[in-house]
Amino acid sequence: MSKTPHLADPDKNPSFTKAIFSGEIREDLVFPFPVPSEADREAAAAILDSFRGWAKETVDPRQHDHDGKFTDATRAGMAELGLMGLNIPEEYGGFGASAMVFNRVFGEVGATDPALAVYFGAHQSIGCKGITLFGTEEQKQKYLPKCASGELIAAFCLTEPGSGSDAQAMRSTAVLNAEGTHYTLNGTKIWISNAGYAGLLTVFAKVPVEVDGKPKQRVTAFIVDAHAKGVSMGQPEQKMGIKASDTRTFTFEDVQVPVDDRLGDVGGGFKIALEILNSGRLGLAAGSSRGTRVMMRHALEYAKQREQFGRPIGTFEMIQRKFAVTAAECYAADAGWIVTSAMVDRGGVDFSLETACCKIFASELANRTAHEALQIAGGIGYSKEYPYEQFVRDARINMIFEGTNEILRALIALSALQEPGERLKQIGKAFKDPLRSLGAIGGYIAGRAKRQLVKPDFTRVHPLLKDEGEELAEVIHSLALGVESLLMSEGKAIIEKQFHQERLANAAIDIYLSICTLSRATAALEAAGGDETKAAPDVDCARLFVGAATRRARRAVRALSRNQDERQKAVASRALESLDLCPEVPIG
Ligand SMILES: Cc1cc2nc3c(=O)[nH]c(=O)nc-3n(C[C@H](O)[C@H](O)[C@H](O)COP(=O)(O)OP(=O)(O)OC[C@H]3O[C@@H](n4cnc5c(N)ncnc54)[C@H](O)[C@@H]3O)c2cc1C
Repeated sequence: MSKTPHLADPDKNPSFTKAIFSGEIREDLVFPFPVPSEADREAAAAILDSFRGWAKETVDPRQHDHDGKFTDATRAGMAELGLMGLNIPEEYGGFGASAMVFNRVFGEVGATDPALAVYFGAHQSIGCKGITLFGTEEQKQKYLPKCASGELIAAFCLTEPGSGSDAQAMRSTAVLNAEGTHYTLNGTKIWISNAGYAGLLTVFAKVPVEVDGKPKQRVTAFIVDAHAKGVSMGQPEQKMGIKASDTRTFTFEDVQVPVDDRLGDVGGGFKIALEILNSGRLGLAAGSSRGTRVMMRHALEYAKQREQFGRPIGTFEMIQRKFAVTAAECYAADAGWIVTSAMVDRGGVDFSLETACCKIFASELANRTAHEALQIAGGIGYSKEYPYEQFVRDARINMIFEGTNEILRALIALSALQEPGERLKQIGKAFKDPLRSLGAIGGYIAGRAKRQLVKPDFTRVHPLLKDEGEELAEVIHSLALGVESLLMSEGKAIIEKQFHQERLANAAIDIYLSICTLSRATAALEAAGGDETKAAPDVDCARLFVGAATRRARRAVRALSRNQDERQKAVASRALESLDLCPEVPIG
């Protein structure tokens, strides 16, 4: 299995988000705000220029939505522009774009046509990404050049009828034959993006193995020819949005997969799936953020020309609030994907929680924005003649695929709790045998006292944003203390406490996006020589966002100890039991 610099190494380089759960701020990971290299800037400018020129002539998202498929010219153009190989390494015929360039382009494709971004992303963010990350040299040579040219379109096959979020529960199997030459693949995969266009599939299935004389099943990844004997496809799903993205079921009946097409080791499949999705999610974040900007451009134009009560509706403060809040959030979402792309490009940094934070935040932002833009357009927003209703339908998917936002929140909370949980477990053990464990107890008490007394500090936030930095540091401090008391009171039971997990994740998301925002605004202030007026467009967005985000995070942390969880549980259980939401109205 080949190693690439994109792979994270949590042991050597713990993540920003994990560190804040212990009250530490890893400023080195988020400051200075990344400056794209000259090569990246030139590459992005050239690619975006040719993409925009081509898309203006060729890509009609409303036509794609209406037809439920891309025109041949759209697909051919994507290949001719070299976009299908954008993040495939150069030595295999691709462009070898950095994460920074790839995500910037992803954003542009997504903002032009979200369905096209799914085509582009399902192919290389997830479809053939496993080969790039984990393929053998032979597999890379054999498949990647064709993927890069667009001759071979790839798809990622993980989800099954009985296993969506719980991917480990998959039932597809791959059994090695007696000669050791082929695996026999059986199973069904559903919701596969690019299915109708695909020639190459990355498929996950369980391989039976024997461990200590006992039969076990190990999730393993395979490269499968979509046209091989035994592979069949369902009809395209009739979806709410991203209609041109071809989504179908694949059925595998005794498909013979050569052993050479096993991707990685037997049992390595789940890790491969997670690694692929960890970086793939960042594209969704960049796409959602860019989409937010474009949706609001339509609404801004409308608000400027539509008059009611004798003046443009954009002069009313209720409409202005929508623009201001969305602007600040879009500024933060952009800061998030840019800082995180730089982490990916740096290599060796654990960015799994940060990409999840960016995906959750930006996908929910785009979803809210689609509704707000439609609201600003009033009645015409609801009409099929205008783009707003398609915005709502297209934006919705990002909160569901590549890990639902609920699953990603659980991932953030539980992964970030591991380190403090481990520390407390060790100390619990140490107290059982205190004489032998004085060193550990002493170390813990010193660390505990430090966490209790010493508020972490930002040293690299611009002095003009000092108040925001201090408020954020205060929240990080209370988060770490909250985490510790939670772990002490809940212990292992925290695994079931999703009210708390959601709060922890929400606080982490707001904190991470806030620090990315402060990093970005700090860079803007430095570029403006500390002149706040010159940097006002950045500083205003940063102050609005960080102010609101720290208030939300503070509330989330406070609710770890003061909440109505028992009552929420009772109300939800009653509703689930009776299949009726709340007491019936007293009439009718
Ligand atoms: C248009 C589209 C394209 C897709 N493309 C692909 C693709 O290319 N390849 C692929 O493999 N898959 C793809 N998917 C599948 C997608 O990744 C799954 O739909 C998603 O992972 C959720 O799985 P599910 O639909 O089975 O929902 P479920 O897992 O059944 O979840 C239903 C709801 O329950 C929540 N939930 C589940 N478990 C928990 C829990 N433990 N705690 C709290 N809440 C929970 C979920 O968040 C969700 O809200 C696609 C789906 C769609 C709709």
